[in-house]
Amino acid sequence: MPTSKSDAFVFFGATGDLAYKQIFPALQELIKHGKLDMQVIGIARSGWSVEQLRQRARDSLEAHGGVDKKAFAKLSRRLQYIDGDYNDAATFTQLRKALGSAEHPLHYLAIPPSMFVPVVKGLAASGCAKGARVIVEKPFGRDLDSARALNRTLHRYFREHDIFRIDHYLGKEPVQNLLYFRFANALLEPIWNRENIASVQITMAENFGVQGRGRFYEGVGAIRDVVQNHMFQVLALLAMGPPANRSADAIRDEKLQVFRSMRAMRPEDLVRGQFDGYRKEAGVAKGSTVETFAALRLHIDSWRWAGVPFIIRAGKQLPVKCTEVLVRLKHPPQQVFDDAPGNEVNCFRFRLNPDVIISLGARVKDPGEAMAGHRVELVAHRHMRDEMAPYQRLLGDAIDGDSALFTRDDSVEEAWRVLAPILGDAVPVHKYKPGSWGPKEANALVADIGGWNDPVIEPAPKTSK
Ligand code: NDP
Repeated sequence: MPTSKSDAFVFFGATGDLAYKQIFPALQELIKHGKLDMQVIGIARSGWSVEQLRQRARDSLEAHGGVDKKAFAKLSRRLQYIDGDYNDAATFTQLRKALGSAEHPLHYLAIPPSMFVPVVKGLAASGCAKGARVIVEKPFGRDLDSARALNRTLHRYFREHDIFRIDHYLGKEPVQNLLYFRFANALLEPIWNRENIASVQITMAENFGVQGRGRFYEGVGAIRDVVQNHMFQVLALLAMGPPANRSADAIRDEKLQVFRSMRAMRPEDLVRGQFDGYRKEAGVAKGSTVETFAALRLHIDSWRWAGVPFIIRAGKQLPVKCTEVLVRLKHPPQQVFDDAPGNEVNCFRFRLNPDVIISLGARVKDPGEAMAGHRVELVAHRHMRDEMAPYQRLLGDAIDGDSALFTRDDSVEEAWRVLAPILGDAVPVHKYKPGSWGPKEANALVADIGGWNDPVIEPAPKTSK
């Protein structure tokens, strides 16, 4: 197992959309911070020259954060381009030659999933997999069987330690803060269980549709696109037990326990929706039943969480763009005062997007004679943006061989196991109006836990200079 830093960065899919939007900006930042002191080899089949790839990198940077003259000059010098088909052994022979004396290359598969197998086979047959690590982009399969098949193929050529499955959500600062806030403080752990917590809701709302990616979306839908990966990872960070230490496996072991304890979904715990107008999007079937909204009620059968509903809701064309977690605590055992406390006597709110908020909801007395009060929110933390782009963080970690922020094979498979019974058309898809909070049928999922938490985006606080 290579424990040393990678000594060459190879990215398949160099001419693709992900490279344009995320990879070039991340590479420039890594160079700026002295983390990418190695050759960078892009591979695709567009018939480009290295000059064209450099131009593409420049265009990408101009569109995503700007060109840093010094760092870009370094990136340009290190950039090489190999033109070839991934089904052709000659492509990999060229790569082996280009790698020269590099012993621990990092191969990033930023390519369609159908190309994963030919590429890993090509890497192995040409000797490029020796001592190497590989980064795999989502999706990690589309169900349990395909995820297992993908893992089997990867394991034929790479050890699990050398496989880095990217879920860019785990590279986000506020997502990391869930782990940090929970286990850097002593105050949460004593109450973080079924004795005190009534329910947990995670909402990922997007106020836009499929943005011209109808064809892609038809093949996935909300559950495969964001629930199986991003939302389940957030849920695991909220529900996991304290890790033995900071190591990748200690953290991933605890997350695995959560996935293992999750009950396989029943159709009655799922509501699917599709926004009006989705079927008119380019690339979408006229009679499509693909969901653009999903609400799921999940059960974790563990000593810590038995009986506590975990609700995930994700959807497009909702009123706001926001990802937020609301952890409602149980009510006080007795209502001493006369005023109606509402659903959220005490709660923790973790907003992950667009701004970052950690807050505690509580009630305080209104001034005056009556013993009546109102709800306040004690904001522990608020800031507006990520300091470091997730791809920069994740690619930097992969170069260093640190897999803490990457998903492990066993967790991926457990997540698919949980969702297996409800994939596809297990339940009907209900229509909803763009700009609404999804189909009304979803209300039944939260009727007994005080209803939905619909995030409200407040204007950013004014900062004094
Ligand atoms: P694109 O279709 O834009 O790019 C695919 C890339 O793969 C191109 O560079 C293409 O080269 C290359 N390629 C495909 N087949 C071959 C082949 N047989 N031989 C040589 N090159 C080949 O895909 P994306 O960049 O959008 O996505 C890549 C991966 O990243 C996918 O797994 C996707 O799910 C994932 N992803 C993408 C996101 C995004 O925002 N785009 C977000 C999150 C994940 P050429 O152009 O020369 O044909």
